[in-house]
Amino acid sequence: MDKLIRVLLAEDELYDAELNIREIKKMLSNVVFERVDNKIAFIKMLETYFPDIIISDYNMPSFDGLTALKIASDLCPEIPFIIVTGSINEDTAVECMKAGATDYVLKDSLKRLGSSVQNALEQSKIRKERIDAFETIKLNEAKYRYMFHNNPQPMWIYDLETYKFLEVNNAAAKHYGFSKEEFLTMNLKDVLPSFEIEKLVKNSETFDSHLNLADTWIHKKKNGELISVEIVSYFIIFNKRNARHVLINDVTERKKTEEKLIHERKLLRTLIDNLPVTIYVKDAEGRKIIANRADLEVIGAKTEVEVLGKTDLELFRNDIGVRGYADDKKLIETGIPVLNQEEYFFDINGVQHWLMTSKIPLTEENGKITGLVGIGHNITEQKKMQAELIEAKEKAEESDRLKSAFLANMSHEIRTPLNSIIGFSELLGDPDFDPDQKTDFITHIVDNGNSLLMIISDIMDFSMLEAGQLKLRPEQISAKKIMNELLNEFEHKAELRGIQLRIDDSANAPDILFTSDIYRIKQIFNNLIGNAIKFTSEGFVEIGYKTAGEMVEFHIKDSGIGIDPKYHQAIFERFRQVDNTKTRKYGGNGLGLAISKNLIQLLGGNIWLKSELGKYSDFLFTIPINKI
Ligand code: ADP
Repeated sequence: MDKLIRVLLAEDELYDAELNIREIKKMLSNVVFERVDNKIAFIKMLETYFPDIIISDYNMPSFDGLTALKIASDLCPEIPFIIVTGSINEDTAVECMKAGATDYVLKDSLKRLGSSVQNALEQSKIRKERIDAFETIKLNEAKYRYMFHNNPQPMWIYDLETYKFLEVNNAAAKHYGFSKEEFLTMNLKDVLPSFEIEKLVKNSETFDSHLNLADTWIHKKKNGELISVEIVSYFIIFNKRNARHVLINDVTERKKTEEKLIHERKLLRTLIDNLPVTIYVKDAEGRKIIANRADLEVIGAKTEVEVLGKTDLELFRNDIGVRGYADDKKLIETGIPVLNQEEYFFDINGVQHWLMTSKIPLTEENGKITGLVGIGHNITEQKKMQAELIEAKEKAEESDRLKSAFLANMSHEIRTPLNSIIGFSELLGDPDFDPDQKTDFITHIVDNGNSLLMIISDIMDFSMLEAGQLKLRPEQISAKKIMNELLNEFEHKAELRGIQLRIDDSANAPDILFTSDIYRIKQIFNNLIGNAIKFTSEGFVEIGYKTAGEMVEFHIKDSGIGIDPKYHQAIFERFRQVDNTKTRKYGGNGLGLAISKNLIQLLGGNIWLKSELGKYSDFLFTIPINKI
């Protein structure tokens, strides 16, 4: 429903008042009326009735239209005032209008009153709205000025063309140390160090001035102090000028803290990277979030990026990854640290590493476990040394054992021929000596003397070989010829043991001529054939040769006791015998094969064997044809 319009009628004649009301009601439906006919009532009505429009008769006996108009203009100038008059001359009309009447209506043409009231009300409404709008603007402007000047964030407005400050708030003045008045005589360049002025000029050339900008700058305070600021700025029209409203946030302290933090982080990183221990941090899922250089080495990765975000399951193969991941999970679930645990890893390249690891849970203030820190000392070298020490100890013990066995053996091997020599020599000097036995005794003495000589020359040779003192004398040698000579030399000895010594049939193949030291080759054969005869009780001993590439390959095969495969390597070591207990029945000093192997290697060849326990032994060795 429309607002009720209150009409105040200043009219002494009731009838005229009724006429007025009738005319007004023709145009407006929602009107109410009050009538007064004197000054006091008129003023009272203005103060209590608050009329929307006043309609006054020009002539009243105790009151008149012009007086009413003046009173209304003083007390409530915004209320439209219409004068209704019987007759009016031009001067009076002008006077009324000058005094502030909105309109005047002649009683002769009272029909016009309705539309006049309507117009007056409309114009009044428009005027009122305008005044309201103006008031609002004024109020808003005051509000904004207040908000701008009293805002705790420093801000200013500067002219985009001249850079002159157009407005500066209290916070900016306080922060920069200039008074507001000083600011308003300055321009933006006055708060910039020289290196930033260049940037300002460049920015204004490149950026569209209408853009809203966010950026960081260095500003200069009145006292010369430089500060880092983050600014946000907006294009505005200010006092009809293209301008920029700038909001300033001093981030100097934050920057300093950030820089300090970065510096400290770098320092920490350098520290952990250069420590000779692995250091890593994992999150609550067991994923790596920090890995130092030593840790990368253990994993076999080149950069941290390769390992970040990965669990042990992804970083290590097989059970190692499973074990590491399970340990991490357990620690995160229980919070129980792992201390000094020895662990091994195979890195990406398959190299084994040993670590002495400790893992400690990482907790938030409320005790929640968010991950873990791991520290590991690489004990790979220590472990290696430990293993080497154990091996060396075992070797030393073995060597000691072998030496004791060797000494016991030697004492037996030397004493036996020596006792024979002494015994038979004494017999030769016995007065009851039977001259018929002389030859026999002398043969015994010579044989035992030779045995002793062989033992002593074995020991001498071995010492010379170990000292690298043995000299070789190369000459041209016929393989076939050696075979025949060996046959002549050992045939008788073999026969005495009931064994056949033979040359391999295939040796009928063409002779092989090669250059080497014949004396040493014979020495090797003597050892090998001597062993073959010694360890064979029936059957044969066979010697032979063939070409194998650049080499001549000899073999000495027997149908003797054979050798357990587990001794195939060891018997070539000094003092090693398959049976080196005191009950050994074959005799020997355990040096023959070691000497033979060393000699063969010195001559540029190699020795190995094939054998089956209880069946046969076949020793094979090569000698280069043209090299010594
Ligand atoms: P030894 O003086 O004890 O024969 P060797 O170094 O010549 O010393 O031989 C070492 C050991 O190798 C022998 O004690 C023996 O156990 C084994 N051996 C060597 N040759 C043969 C072979 N032909 N048949 C069986 N065992 C052999």
